[in-house]
Amino acid sequence: MDLKFRCPTRVFLGQGCIERYASEMAVLGSKALIVIGASSAKRSGALQDMVSALKKLGIDYLIFDRVEQNPSIKTVYEGGEQAREWQADFIIGIGGGSPLDAAKAIAVLAVNRVEAEELMAKKWGNRPLPVVAVPTTAGTGSEVTPYAILTVDWAETKMSIAADSLFPVVAFLDGSYTLNLPGELTANTAVDALTHSIEGYINRRADRLSDLLALESIGILGRLLRKTNPSVLTLQEREELLYASMLAGIVIAQTATGVIHALGYPLTYFKNLPHGLANGVITRASLEFMAQSDKKRVQNVVNVMGCADLAEVGELLNSVLTPVDFKLTSEEVEKFITKTLQAKNIANCPCQPTREDIRKILVESNLA
Ligand code: NAP
Ligand code: ZN
Repeated sequence: MDLKFRCPTRVFLGQGCIERYASEMAVLGSKALIVIGASSAKRSGALQDMVSALKKLGIDYLIFDRVEQNPSIKTVYEGGEQAREWQADFIIGIGGGSPLDAAKAIAVLAVNRVEAEELMAKKWGNRPLPVVAVPTTAGTGSEVTPYAILTVDWAETKMSIAADSLFPVVAFLDGSYTLNLPGELTANTAVDALTHSIEGYINRRADRLSDLLALESIGILGRLLRKTNPSVLTLQEREELLYASMLAGIVIAQTATGVIHALGYPLTYFKNLPHGLANGVITRASLEFMAQSDKKRVQNVVNVMGCADLAEVGELLNSVLTPVDFKLTSEEVEKFITKTLQAKNIANCPCQPTREDIRKILVESNLA
């Protein structure tokens, strides 16, 4: 057996976990920069819980609330500047994957004066500040991954920075923060988690332990996606989604993603599709492609999701995701294929896709 495993994040999952385990932050310093998006950290109640925990601990805080979806390089530089001026000892990211990823990049920039190319190429000398992560969506798993994914205009796509020093040191997962996620966001983010586990399971770097976690999360996600209206999930089900999304995050921390994410990034960059939706619309056709090299694993995914065949997986995804109503031009198709094959996660696919394979995925997903 060959096994490699890392999850250096201390994970606390359960209602009230920030309050119950706040003391974990006491050792991180006396000044924190809290990184959030426009409003959901406040509306979910997570920011208030964090602020009251910090006050009890005597930790000063400053809030940086300018993180947009699919965070830009510009935003993380602004956050890095604030962290440096404020002399933060650690960074707290609260929100969906966008604020969590921004928090990681800000943690780098707070202690490294580097150009954007150097940031993306991991050419920084000082260890990033510690990051505490509080997810308010159940999908990215960023709270347990070493990745920060940023929108990179010079590459016209999204790119990830991957470094062990970017694993959050502590993650607080409280399902109640996701209770008010609207149905569309719930579905998109759950499908994102599903694709993490699928791509981690059908992956050159998969091993026995990552398989175990991937299949556990695929089972939970398949079951919960069947709920006709994802916005009516109970608190217990919300917690399960968060658990499944965290497991999927641990999976990709070992394996990284594959063809679905590689093709999903240009769909987000050029067509503005939310990350989970971009992945979801190409999942069935991508599974068809994967089945050419590993029929057995693809069938296991289908079975564990509780479906009879790939067509049923496609129907399930179509039933929860917002329909995509555009077709790519032939020029866009060629550009997207090139971007996909240039993505570093393609190397993780057990069978390397050709241009024709990617084209087929786009056509079968009704995008071309
Ligand atoms: P997101 O981009 O963080 O947020 C999407 C929207 O959801 C925002 O409008 C946000 O509002 C809102 N929102 C967040 N929590 C909410 C809540 N509890 N109730 C209501 N609305 C809420 O979405 P995401 O799908 O979680 O993250 C996607 C990003 O994560 C992408 O950039 C993707 O590439 C990245 N990602 C990272 C990893 C990793 O390992 N690092 C893995 C997968 C994906 P506000 O703007 O007000 O906050
Ligand atoms: Zn993802």
